[in-house]
Amino acid sequence: QRIAVLKERTAGETRVAATPETVKKLIGLGASVAVEQGAGLTASVSDAEYAAAGADVVSADAVAKDADIVMGVQGPDPVQLSGAKPGAWIVAGLDPFGRRERIDSYASGGYEALAMEFMPRITRAQSMDILSSQSNLSGYKAVLAAADTYGRAFPMMMTAAGTVTAAKVFVMGVGVAGLQAIATAKRLGAQVSATDVRSATREQIQSLGAKPIFVENVEGIEGEGSGGYATEMSDEYKKAQAELVSSHIAKQDIVITTALIPGRPAPRLITDAQIASMKPGSVIFDLAVPQGGNVEGSVADELVEKHGVKLIGFSNTPAHLAADASALFARNLFNFLSAFWDKEAGKPILDEEIGDAIRLTKDGKVVNERLLG
Ligand code: NAD
Repeated sequence: QRIAVLKERTAGETRVAATPETVKKLIGLGASVAVEQGAGLTASVSDAEYAAAGADVVSADAVAKDADIVMGVQGPDPVQLSGAKPGAWIVAGLDPFGRRERIDSYASGGYEALAMEFMPRITRAQSMDILSSQSNLSGYKAVLAAADTYGRAFPMMMTAAGTVTAAKVFVMGVGVAGLQAIATAKRLGAQVSATDVRSATREQIQSLGAKPIFVENVEGIEGEGSGGYATEMSDEYKKAQAELVSSHIAKQDIVITTALIPGRPAPRLITDAQIASMKPGSVIFDLAVPQGGNVEGSVADELVEKHGVKLIGFSNTPAHLAADASALFARNLFNFLSAFWDKEAGKPILDEEIGDAIRLTKDGKVVNERLLG
């Protein structure tokens, strides 16, 4: 098997889909690996390190030549695939709902596109889950960016000149990113509270030493759909949540929002009126900004000031931690390929459960039921 590792073309994408560590391991499986020149530079990996790991470091025109598997962080531009074998796999975060046209072009090119973000949330696939590995780092970075933008300190400090009070941090959405945001804010010494629609998160919030803020006494608030993901909530729930959040948010210094619903725009959690109720100098980091945002008025990669409150959010948060994000992403892809590597066939062979979940295109057609349905 020939595996090609492409340099990312999307603006602002600093990550890379393989590291020298995973290149070595892929070669250990029996594959040969081509890495595009400069692919790792923005993630602090030089061409020489890839070469030392055993990769052929080649130009953009040659990298996909005879490839059976093309690896990317994001879905490659179809021109980057020239020379790949018919039916070659494209293994990457393909943003299937956001970049549908590109998926169609993979189908017409005859490729088998595998969307790593569609990995099912089952125990054996945990080590292959790019959403988890990248969200974890994003939750951490969101808190650091908010702390950096905040004109005050996070921890309580007693000094000869008087006491600095601890910042109050509120985390909305307690999935993988939210849990890491809570942990990071605690480490920085903030007073932390958090909320989610999934009632199962209450205990997780408490176990991190933060205070759960939950809607009580509303019917049907389990909030959990398939695969542990959130569902769209009832109007009654949304109203109760908005009231609760309004009174709590006015007392907060920092809010980190992370709420997502798969395949839908991000739920709106904070309105302009709620922003106006916050103290001037407060900071809101909207991690959901690439999916439409949880916060009214937040704009990706811009600092927006509303009613004296600073709104921030990145279009690509893990790209701000390129080296670690790449290391984890690359291991996710390696874990995936190695789990399915068939020694006799000398190539990976997917099983039905995972194959059907992540396969978007095959034999010239879009085949994934989440895209067809
Ligand atoms: P996500 O990124 O899809 O969403 C982030 C959080 O926002 C979720 O906790 C969600 O419940 C919450 N949310 C959605 N709408 C909201 C609203 N209106 N108000 C407040 N919060 C709202 O979620 P995620 O980080 O991918 O994690 C979801 C769950 O899946 C977690 O329980 C996680 O532990 C689990 N998980 C399992 C596996 C696995 O078993 N392989 C892998 C990753 C995550």
